[in-house]
Amino acid sequence: MALLQISEPGQSPDPHQRRIAVGIDLGTTHSLVASVRNGIAECLPDEHDRVILPSVVRYTGEGSGRQIGFEALAGQATDAANTIVSVKRLMGRVRADVHDVDNLPYAVLDTPGMASVETRVGPKTPVEISAEILATLRFRAEDSFDDDLFGAVITVPAYFDDAQRQATKDAAQLAGINVLRLINEPTAAAIAYGLDQASEGLYAVFDLGGGTFDISILRLTEGVFEVLATGGDSALGGDDYDRALAHFALQQGLGDHAPAPETLSNADKANLYAAARKCKEALSADGVTEATLSCPLDSGDVHVTIGRDAFAQATEALTQRTLQAVRRALRDAELDKSAIDGVVMVGGSTRMPVIRDAVAALFGQPPLTNLNPDEVVALGAAIQANQLAGNHTGDALLLLDVIPLSLGIETMGGLVERIVPRNSTIPTARAQDFTTFKDGQTALALHVVQGERDLVADCRSLARFELRGIPPMAAGVARIRVSFTVDADGMLQVDAVETLSGVQAHIDVKPSYGLSDDQIADMLRDSYATAEADIKARAVVEARVDAERMILATQSALNADGDLLNPAERAVIDEHIAAVVALKSSDDAAQIEAVTKALAAATEPFAAARMNRGITQALAGKNLNAV
Ligand code: ADP
Ligand code: MG
Repeated sequence: MALLQISEPGQSPDPHQRRIAVGIDLGTTHSLVASVRNGIAECLPDEHDRVILPSVVRYTGEGSGRQIGFEALAGQATDAANTIVSVKRLMGRVRADVHDVDNLPYAVLDTPGMASVETRVGPKTPVEISAEILATLRFRAEDSFDDDLFGAVITVPAYFDDAQRQATKDAAQLAGINVLRLINEPTAAAIAYGLDQASEGLYAVFDLGGGTFDISILRLTEGVFEVLATGGDSALGGDDYDRALAHFALQQGLGDHAPAPETLSNADKANLYAAARKCKEALSADGVTEATLSCPLDSGDVHVTIGRDAFAQATEALTQRTLQAVRRALRDAELDKSAIDGVVMVGGSTRMPVIRDAVAALFGQPPLTNLNPDEVVALGAAIQANQLAGNHTGDALLLLDVIPLSLGIETMGGLVERIVPRNSTIPTARAQDFTTFKDGQTALALHVVQGERDLVADCRSLARFELRGIPPMAAGVARIRVSFTVDADGMLQVDAVETLSGVQAHIDVKPSYGLSDDQIADMLRDSYATAEADIKARAVVEARVDAERMILATQSALNADGDLLNPAERAVIDEHIAAVVALKSSDDAAQIEAVTKALAAATEPFAAARMNRGITQALAGKNLNAV
């Protein structure tokens, strides 16, 4: 009898079917998409065989209403106000925090939460604009594989904060892309070079693009990259080399009469800078020692031959600035340059021999340059995406440089107190103090959970353990320090110490074991969708916990010192307790708070009387000299 192949609904009957996963480098000036095919990472080309997509969106108001990439770039000269370049600089930023915002060729609006861009079709958020770029790359990948995309790893600068990362994720979601993970650009570059295959090492990633320079120092330990330091200059890049060369060429060509490049007409300036860029790029080619820069200008044509040495001299100050930033980053990481095991070059400008030579001289070793520096980030992201999608057949080592979901502890009432927030880079250690809830409580149950939701019931339970042997104390006196330590393997260890007595307990947990990235994505999606409901639920639970605590405290006070009250006073307090007991399980936080407050107010005179008795008792038995 033949066996029937059975599969779960929605699941592939073939467990080995490949899932289409890509890496996306969402860059300031250009973006790329790459994928692993037949074991080799490669960038996917568009229909004209170009792998680079200019990160430019132009809102035309006609036809589909927008152009993306090269088409948009072509409109820049005539329609700069509606042609959005460098949108990455606005991601997750308010207007006041955008560097040099007034010099952008389009109007940036001071919208709450995140800056947005004024266009002829109305205001557009950086998230929407980036989504256009991401969607274009998604379609390119889907066309190329003739299949739907399973997911993508998207790269972000190592210094991106949570708001910038979140904005990137939101843009991907808007583009219909399932984000398998965001990884840091330098980490991706290191992966592309296979540096994660070593057991450990210290690496510098030198990224010199068109307008920005980033230096990152990474430490690899057992397959996990940790960012030790980042630095650079957000206003230094290949464009500055173009300007420096243009300036030099004007002086060479026109002598003393040379105008400063800044004083040229816009058209002349654009032509001159373009000619300088061409000359600069020609000088990078192997074996080339000189190149000509020729450009017609209103003030006289420029036609000069530039040698490599002259270029190096004209741009020396810029090169020195990059080296200074490298030294600073090394200092921040508390490392000597000799400790660096490898230097990865990223960005088109690292093709310049002046840069390669300067970096080699600084580190005393030649940098890694055999991969295309424009593509290296996308290639690394593709390798990571392939692993996360489960296509990787070799060792299943999953590189984890950030914590994908928050880790926390259950507190009274089934609430989660987050201790290590998601996206924290690992290894990491965080601690928080807790206390006991009841008088004389000698043990504490600790419940470790993972997830973004406020209620324990909606998170994933990781482990439970107990701290025993706490000496009996009044509620709220014990100091229990709970520390979470996540090592480079993503292994979590939780320690609890009662600091007054020194009693302690600990447990080892593997946090993301068994959680697929799909599940992680679901949990994150859930948490955004339900944030409002969670806030309400949290308020109710907190009110209930307060009510419970007030009842316990009052009852314990009555047990100890009830004799201080006359029957009428006692009856009033009992009535208030009954009111709280009756309402404490309701779903109305305001109502619970009201009766709890009323109980607190009603017990105030009693509390004062107890305090007086307490002082009398403490003093009794001591002789007057001791007081
Ligand atoms: P970004 O990361 O800012 O998007 P890129 O990494 O694409 O930028 O780098 C663009 C810069 O690289 C431009 O200034 C360009 O002139 C420069 N570049 C590209 N190719 C070469 C080359 N062969 N020689 C020198 N510079 C180059
Ligand atoms: Mg770049």
